[in-house]
Amino acid sequence: MKITIIGAGPGGYEAAIMAAKLGAEVTVVEKNVVGGTCLNIGCVPTKALLASADVLVTSLEAAKFGVLNDHTTAELKQIIERKDKLVAGLVKGIEFLFESNGVNLVRGSGKLIDSKTVEVQQSDGGVEKLVSDKILLATGSVPICPEMFGYDGKKVITSTEALALTTPPKSMIVVGGGVIGCELGQFFSRLGTRITIVEMADQILSTEDKSVAKQLLRQLKREKIKVLTAIGVAEVNVQDSGVVVTLTNGEILDAEMMLLSMGRSSYSKGLNLEGVGIKADHKGHIVVDQSLETSVKGIYAVGDLINTPFLAHVAAKEGIIAAENMLGKNKAGVHKAIPRCVYTDPQVAAVGITEKEAQQRGIIYKTGSFDFRALRKAQIIGKIQGQIKILVDENDVVIGASIVGPEATDLLAELTMAVHLGLTAEILGDVIHPHPTLSEAIMEALHDVCGKSINKVEGTL
Ligand code: FAD
Repeated sequence: MKITIIGAGPGGYEAAIMAAKLGAEVTVVEKNVVGGTCLNIGCVPTKALLASADVLVTSLEAAKFGVLNDHTTAELKQIIERKDKLVAGLVKGIEFLFESNGVNLVRGSGKLIDSKTVEVQQSDGGVEKLVSDKILLATGSVPICPEMFGYDGKKVITSTEALALTTPPKSMIVVGGGVIGCELGQFFSRLGTRITIVEMADQILSTEDKSVAKQLLRQLKREKIKVLTAIGVAEVNVQDSGVVVTLTNGEILDAEMMLLSMGRSSYSKGLNLEGVGIKADHKGHIVVDQSLETSVKGIYAVGDLINTPFLAHVAAKEGIIAAENMLGKNKAGVHKAIPRCVYTDPQVAAVGITEKEAQQRGIIYKTGSFDFRALRKAQIIGKIQGQIKILVDENDVVIGASIVGPEATDLLAELTMAVHLGLTAEILGDVIHPHPTLSEAIMEALHDVCGKSINKVEGTL
């Protein structure tokens, strides 16, 4: 079986390696660098920057732990150099995996000619035609930049340019208080940039639990980040000195730079979808069935290109499922337990449904919670802000969980498994959790759902 994959982000490269392991002859077409958005301008670089900011904060708070360290400063140029080195190493890692699994990498831009043929416009000007049995589209997404915002990549930027700045701007307006806006806003604030976040919804992280978003908001405000919610941008003027923004309530903001973090849209430019009859919805997502096959038999699509959450772990999982299905298996592409993570400080992580969603859907539910403040490990490491909240249905099955607090994104794995496997709070709460660890907060919240909490302190802490 011959398979051609267009795009080497997490969707494309995981599919390539899985298909090769299953015995297919695989060619990947990539017009840029392998690893895609996630590795080069997304998950990995943002988290590398945030890791540096974490070290900065820990260092500034060192005296509280009895460690004296008087000369802490952060140099963005060196932070970026560390990030670039890390990314370059990981890119090499994927190239090595391709080589060792016999995946052929063609550098250039891919275009569909028919249901079996991809034409590649190679970086050196050459053109190559690849004929295969099956094709996978994994070309990802690009930032949404409406024209009125005047994106120029210099004063009005997206996350892509923000991740390459070597000097922190004096001030920055962040349009969009979602995951990327909050992560990068807090990062630049910690490096000394005066940040204003403007969010249209009535809370930051608009799809997450209200109380969780409130905890993050409290921390952002503590760090002197100005957060404006339920407000839009009416007008943008890019001037020599910076950017002047008029808000929908008439308020005027000015800053050296403006970061657009209003979401991303599927990227299929140049693929010739219409030419081969592949259907897309009104937002440009390619339409796929349960098996991730498009409206054209033999052509599959995954990741940010389709209407599933724009997340690297979703793209990777879909890549693997598509590879298996292209090779004759019959796996379903949709999962109910998709973890959602925000790597701010405190971190935010959630899975399954939120309380608001349960109410909207008329689901009978119960909640249990536990504050990190009451947990010994949280006190030991000096990170006591936050809470775990767990939702169960009328049969005690865990249907959702939200965590705000230290290592929330790692802690979420256990609750993701519970939602995925349909475990009850009773069964999971019965598991012995090691002491002293942050994971005990999960156990305590589970005990709280069952009305058996020993360590919960009632009332607001
Ligand atoms: P992509 O990773 O976008 O890869 C698509 C690839 O296709 C690219 O390499 C592109 O060059 C190539 N391509 C496009 N068109 C063609 C063509 N015609 N021919 C050849 N090649 C082509 N997700 C998380 O889960 N966790 C996070 O912490 C996280 N942080 C993020 C932070 C930022 C700042 C951003 C922007 C995104 C973040 N994401 C995160 C989202 C994540 O990066 C994406 O969901 C993921 O990369 C999607 O994978 P993909 O394979 O669908 O597409």
